Amino acid sequence: MKKRIAIAGSGFAGAVIARELAETGLYSIDVFEERDHLAGNCHTERDSGTGIMLHRYGPHIFNTSREDVWDYVQRWGKFEPYINRVKAKTARGMFSLPINLLTINQFFGRTMNPREAAEFVAGLGDQSVGTPQSFEDQALKFLGRELYENFFRGYTKKQWGVEPSELPASILQRLPVRFNYDDNYYNMRFQGIPLEGYTALISRILDHPAISIHLRTRFTADESRAYDRTFFTGPLDSWFNFRLGRLQYRSLTFDRFESQGDYQGNAVINYCEETIPFTRISEHKHFTPWEKHEATVCFREFSKLAGPEDIPYYPLRLTGDKALLKQYADLAEREKGVTFAGRLATYRYLDMHAVIGESLDLSRRLIALGSDTSSWPHFSVRPD
Ligand code: UDP
Repeated sequence: MKKRIAIAGSGFAGAVIARELAETGLYSIDVFEERDHLAGNCHTERDSGTGIMLHRYGPHIFNTSREDVWDYVQRWGKFEPYINRVKAKTARGMFSLPINLLTINQFFGRTMNPREAAEFVAGLGDQSVGTPQSFEDQALKFLGRELYENFFRGYTKKQWGVEPSELPASILQRLPVRFNYDDNYYNMRFQGIPLEGYTALISRILDHPAISIHLRTRFTADESRAYDRTFFTGPLDSWFNFRLGRLQYRSLTFDRFESQGDYQGNAVINYCEETIPFTRISEHKHFTPWEKHEATVCFREFSKLAGPEDIPYYPLRLTGDKALLKQYADLAEREKGVTFAGRLATYRYLDMHAVIGESLDLSRRLIALGSDTSSWPHFSVRPD
């Protein structure tokens, strides 16, 4: 008899764990997905009117430095080369982002070389800031007030709904600052977009005789009793019916508009000014430059605090959230038969490649532990 595994959620975490366990031949796996499609917030679908591949929950550009993760995703579909090159609209004009030598020279009206620019920017930094604790500290210390206020302050207040002095420095550390003309948004070794979109990729990961998929089906903690082990990839607090309170998330809304030709000449343009209510506009046909479309579909992206009915996107992780997270993580470690994995269940700001990497690592650990599922860990990575 195969052991029965339930997996709640069909994003990358759920899909990778399902596949890895299915391939051992020891388990029969039910994947439960409450939405009407696979792939969670990575979901892509062709627009019925224009045929353009849309990232329904916002732009997803795959990037990783882990060779095993890059090899893994390519097992399930062809990736087209794609480099994310973002532009930023500021009060002083349109610039290249991340901040690079072109940004610095154009913003300050200079023609510096890399060494001169590095010295110049170091001179802008606020030396009175010690070890940066907050987003604001990090920006002021390494970039100075002018770059901070033009590129980061307004955008960050819109995106997170709080003062940047309340946010961790790690959020800004996601973005490189370069003293050369490299305008690649990411620092990773590998980057691309799946030719047929993320949902096709994830449905191939899940296409295995030992895996059954149940769309439009919410999975509850009660149902886990019928299984030898459950993997929960939804919000950690929802597993416990929010009994200690709610972890805060930011949610997004999208305002769609359509036109002909090329609306903005780039896939993503950020709007850094606080007076403009949206954070960015994405023009999705530019995510598939290998396709030809006359029409174009764009989305203005707005951020808000997630209410109970909203889709959670970004864990806010303010001080109160982190205290609550610790309490939920302690509860999770006392929960029998359940493993929490992925971005929502570990309440961390993880990109796709990080979720896949952690899910592969977790699966390898499970396989090494063998089919005594009671010995399996409670978390892919315990959050803090
Ligand atoms: N950010 C900003 N201005 C920008 C782009 C990013 O202030 O034009 C800040 C903002 O706080 C954002 C963070 O940098 O949340 C990380 O940006 P990233 O592009 O990694 O965010 P994501 O694509 O995950 O939304």
